[in-house]
Formats: sequence, C-alpha cells, structure tokens
Amino acid sequence: FVHQLADESVGMDTLLESPLRLALDNTISLPAELYGPGRKNSRGVDLAVESMRAPLRTAFLSVEVPYVPLFDVESHSNALAISAASYQKWSRLPVAGRAAVLRRAADALEHQLPKFCTLLVKEAFKTWDDAVSEVREAVDFLRYYANEAERIMVPQALPGQSNGVTHGVTGESNELRLTARGVWVCISPWNFPLAIFMGQVAAALATGNAVLAKPAEQTPGVAWEAVKLLHAAGIPEGALQLLHGPGETVGAALVAAPGVAGVVFTGSTRVAKTIQRALAAKDGPIVPLIAETGGINAMLVDSSALPEQVVDVVLQSAFRSAGQRCSALRLLCVHESIADRVIEMVQGAAHELVCGDPADLSTDVGPVIDREAFETIQKHLKRLGFESKVLLAAVPLAPPAINSVAFKVPNLVRPAAFEISDLAGVQDEIFGPVLQIMRWGSGEFRAPESVIAAINGLGYGLTLGLQTRIDSRAQALAARAHVGNIYINRNMIGAVVGVQPFGGEGLSGTGPKAGGPYYLYRFCAEQTVTVNT
Ligand code: GLU
Repeated sequence: FVHQLADESVGMDTLLESPLRLALDNTISLPAELYGPGRKNSRGVDLAVESMRAPLRTAFLSVEVPYVPLFDVESHSNALAISAASYQKWSRLPVAGRAAVLRRAADALEHQLPKFCTLLVKEAFKTWDDAVSEVREAVDFLRYYANEAERIMVPQALPGQSNGVTHGVTGESNELRLTARGVWVCISPWNFPLAIFMGQVAAALATGNAVLAKPAEQTPGVAWEAVKLLHAAGIPEGALQLLHGPGETVGAALVAAPGVAGVVFTGSTRVAKTIQRALAAKDGPIVPLIAETGGINAMLVDSSALPEQVVDVVLQSAFRSAGQRCSALRLLCVHESIADRVIEMVQGAAHELVCGDPADLSTDVGPVIDREAFETIQKHLKRLGFESKVLLAAVPLAPPAINSVAFKVPNLVRPAAFEISDLAGVQDEIFGPVLQIMRWGSGEFRAPESVIAAINGLGYGLTLGLQTRIDSRAQALAARAHVGNIYINRNMIGAVVGVQPFGGEGLSGTGPKAGGPYYLYRFCAEQTVTVNT
C-alpha cells in the first residue's frame, strides 16, 4: 500500500488521511514507560505515535538495507592484529571518556529511530511495534552500560587503607581494580539484530575491550548501520570491526584464533556448545564464554487465574514476534478445571491475529526469518499434528500482495497450537509461533510442584510464567523453578534493560544476565594491587 501511494506520488496530506493512518491509529503500541505515562488521546492511542507517523513513513520510503561485503576469512589474523593494536589505546582512555562516546551513540540512535525501525522491518521482518521497542532497547543498552562501566570501574580501596591512611590487618595499602581483557568476539543473533548486537558490543567497549563483531548472516545490514553510527560517535574503527559471514567459517575462525580474550554469543544451545568446545581445544589462555541461548519456556496457570488475562499474555508471549524470541512461551500448563475455557478463548483470539506483511501496520505476526526456519517449523508442525491434538491449525494464508515485504519473503507461519498429554515429546525449542498446551491437576501432575519439577527436568532455564491469584503459591513455585526470569501474572517477553536483567541457566546459558548489574564484570579482569607502605 505504501509503495502504491508512493508510485502515485500522493501528497503528504493525502497520506495523512489514508487508511495507513487509520492502521497506525489502531495498532501501534509504544512502550508507555519510555514515552511517559498517560499520553493517550481520546481513542486510547499513545500520542507519541502522532509525532512518529510521518518520520516512520518517510524512512520506510527512502531507507534501503545496505549491501554488506562478506569478510574474507583468510584475513582474520589481520583483523585481530588491528584490533589488538587499537585495544591498547581504547582501553587506556578513562572510563568516563568511553562512556561519553557510548552516550553520544545512544543519542544518535534515538535520533535515527525511524531509519533503524525501517531496517528492522525490511531486513528482519519485524512488525513496526517490535521494531520501535527494539531500537529503544538498543538505546537503553548503550546508556545502561555506559553508566555501569563508570559505576564499577572505579578502583576500590580494600580494608587496610582508607583516605590514604594505612591501618588494616596487613599493614599495607590494597586496591582492587577492574581492567579490560583484550579483544572480544561478539556473535549476535538475527532475532534482535540491533538490540542484542548493540548490547554485546556496548558492554565490551564500555569496559575498554576491543570488538570483532560477527552478526547473524541473515541480518548484516542492521549491524553495518549500527557500526557506522558507533564509529561516527567516536569509537575508533580498529576497536570495532564488523566481520560479516557464516558462523561455520567466519565465526569458527574467530573463535579459534589465538589472542581472543573472550567470546560473547547469543543463539542456539547447540552452537554455544560448539563454541565452548572450540575454546577448550585451543592452546593458550582459558578464554571466557558468555552464552545466552534458548529455552522451552513454560507458563503454569492454576484454577484461580483470570482466563481473560491468561489469554492476553499467552498470545503476546507465544505469538508476538512470530514466536522468534528466546523468551517466548512454548509450553502452556493449564489447570484442568479452567483448561477448556482457556483453550477455547486462545483459539478464538488467535484466529483474530493478522498474519502477513510486516510493513503493514495492521500485522500482528510477520514472516519467520528465512526458508530454513520455515521448513524446520513445518517439520515440527507435521510431527505435532501426528502426535497430539491440533487446537489451532497452521492454516494456509492468503498470498501476500505483490510489492509487500512478505511477498519477497514468503515464510509466513500462522500461529499454531497443539494439546499434549505429557512432556515426553517435548525436547526441542521450536523457534516460531507454535504453542504446546498440557492440562494438569490429576495423575502424575496432580500438584503444581510436580509440573514445575517436570519443567525443570527439561534442562532449560530461561523464562517461566505463573498465573495465579494466590500470592504465596506464586512465590513458593518461583522458589522451586530453575529459571532465570520469572513473570507472575503478566507476559513473559520484553525484559527491560536495567530493570529486568535477562538470561538463564542450564541449557539456556552461562549468565551473567544482560542488562543487569553483574554483566560487565565478566568482560573485565580483576587486579589487586598491594603496596608495602
Ligand atoms: N530479551 C528478549 C525478551 O525479553 C529476548 C531476547 C532473545 O530472544 O534473545 O523478550
């Protein structure tokens, strides 16, 4: 539609009165906490949308995903040498100087929000509201890690000395300080090509490290523009290099290269383990790995829960972003006394979801990232269709309009749901809009504790949802769960930087949590300096 209007050279006034405007009015929701509460107009639409409508549209018509050259893997030792040299200077800059650069980048990114939203829609097939939240999250990461680096990278006098006066047990002055480690390899995923990319890179740079960034091969364009923005803000080119290419070649060569001080990776558990093995097999120093991987995330709903609320959070958690979040809900465990009602309502509500072109503002669920992802999901759908009861069939969709983003990427998967009787067949994370539902309340799963034990038994530990109006039960179940993020009576996605530190345990990752107060420590070495005074 946008293309059509553009082709017809429709003026701005006409555009403002077009159906596109109506779609915007009705669908975009912005994170209210970031734009100020209560800024709603009479129709309940956030007023920030009013000011963003025109810039988003202009950007969509003018911004194209850039071509990103493939990195020649043969030259990786050269890239590493440049990085190592730049590290010497960057790490010596006082932390306040590095933080200032990151804050400048945050301001620039905020300013370029429409451009980056467009890149996310066109390259990663994000819906507009997902794109807006993602740009905001990237801005938050830049500011948060700038602040955190300044907070923690202050030399700390330890007992033994205060105000320059030595009086402690050792009779010496003792100081603990954090230093950068060297060159970090940052390997980021396509599902948050800006926010997670920026989070990893900002954490490493804020602490004084140099970065070799290897973004997901599906989304190099967003990373390319992000790196350009960081360089323009003042990050030296040698301290941040973008190396685009497949994980099997470029990623593998970087991980195996001598002289790498650390690796931070977000992606599948399988690849995280491959990286861990490769690091362990290297000669030389023991190289730290920060891995944030997937999850088979469950939500437990008891008989006291409010079905209307459950349905809303289930739809958000399982199907938003086409289920392509590692935090997404995969397994809904509903008490049998309300299961029929909840299932019926989920079916009804899911049928209303608009699945289609991400650039169309009325779309709730856009395409999955590529053909490979589409086909993997289809295999799971087929298997689940045989093994379980189909609650929501992944019905074929109407063909997308020519010219639409979805037409060029015909990988739409309609939200699907299946009822299973136990967890025997639940083994893999299905990275798409596919929900499995299990009833509990009798037999093996008579008590909610037994459900939590079974969920723990899956080995993952990323997010868990609890829906109950009994507070003491929520707290007791939360205490038994081996997961990183627990969401009680709300949806399970969209952790807020600095407020809801994000990351899991077990098969879901190594920690520390992104956007949390312990994250930067892992990027640093600790040095104790003792002076005989
Ligand atoms: N931080 C995101 C969330 O809370 C998920 C990140 C991911 O999918 O890797 O939804």
